Amino acid sequence: MKIRVGIVGYGNLGKGVENVISYNEDMELVGVFTRRDPSTIKTKTNIPAYTLEDAQNMKDDIDVMILCGGSAKDLPEQTPLFAKSFNVVDSFDTHANIPEHFKRVDDACRASNHVGIVSVGWDPGLFSLQRLYGEAILPQGNVQTFWGKGVSQGHSDAIRRVEGVKDARQYTIPIQETLDKVRSGNNSEFTAREKHLRECYVVVEDGADKKVIEETIKTMPNYFADYETIVHFISEEELQRDHQGLPHGGVVLHTANTGFDNEHKQVIEYKLDLDSNPEFTSSVLVAYARAAYRLANEKQFGCKSVFEVAPVYLHASSVEELRKKLL
Ligand code: NDP
Repeated sequence: MKIRVGIVGYGNLGKGVENVISYNEDMELVGVFTRRDPSTIKTKTNIPAYTLEDAQNMKDDIDVMILCGGSAKDLPEQTPLFAKSFNVVDSFDTHANIPEHFKRVDDACRASNHVGIVSVGWDPGLFSLQRLYGEAILPQGNVQTFWGKGVSQGHSDAIRRVEGVKDARQYTIPIQETLDKVRSGNNSEFTAREKHLRECYVVVEDGADKKVIEETIKTMPNYFADYETIVHFISEEELQRDHQGLPHGGVVLHTANTGFDNEHKQVIEYKLDLDSNPEFTSSVLVAYARAAYRLANEKQFGCKSVFEVAPVYLHASSVEELRKKLL
């Protein structure tokens, strides 16, 4: 029997999960659940769309719900709510609030005998695992994460809120010189400015003061003030033509010295180069949905992070096959 999956929220990740399920043969998609009028949602694979309330009548038809809403407003509410009736997986990525989110989902899962896996994706997610492996294996070392080159949707949104800005796209770019230093075993702590630069492509309203806009962006606290920031003003056509993709990626680098005289340098490097951030994140979510289903079958109820899910639960093959094939 296939693992029956539902999608809550039909944005970039929702569409990504729909696509990913189509090439995971042990899974099938039951439906998409949205807070919009379902009759306005045209899914790519003609899977039916339902209201969020409809889900309550489909508890026996769905093994795992993949929550694809936004981290800021949707997931803090939706993941604990859906965990009362379903096994759930989400990609909650507001790092500072993960412990609180985890606790709320854990309470809901334990009260209802479900499994939740939260903060699944690449960061948090696969990068978190690499940081953990690095620190576990080389505790005397130093871990550094570099993001990009990629589109930061949060920073793009922040620019769009500046008066006179019509649209914008922000790329986070790692600084090669610092990357090279870390790769070569330099264990110093680097500042935000030394690690990344921020490049912004901005479309302005007619008559807007570009100088003021540039200054407002570059001095914006938390978002740009701590970085070298480059602002390019472009036309709406150029933004549509050249900046519609959502690439991302990055590197987790762990370096340490071993040997009684610290004479041997050890470097662990884990790199992601993603053409489409949401399609990749969806792929990770689907693998963890398989894990949630299996953990629920074993009655391992409660919430888990990627740290607490053994790798063997992610793969469609049995552990015996995996030992033969991949060990
Ligand atoms: P989107 O903005 O595309 O979608 C979020 C929600 O907005 C959807 O679930 C949908 O809910 C609603 N929505 C989408 N399109 C429309 C529309 N045209 N009109 C009205 N509502 C719409 O976000 P993403 O899918 O790109 O990302 C979701 C979250 O995933 C992000 O907030 C981010 O935090 C997280 N993420 C995590 C990663 C990780 O590595 N851990 C990596 C990438 C993202 P509904 O259908 O109910 O209206």
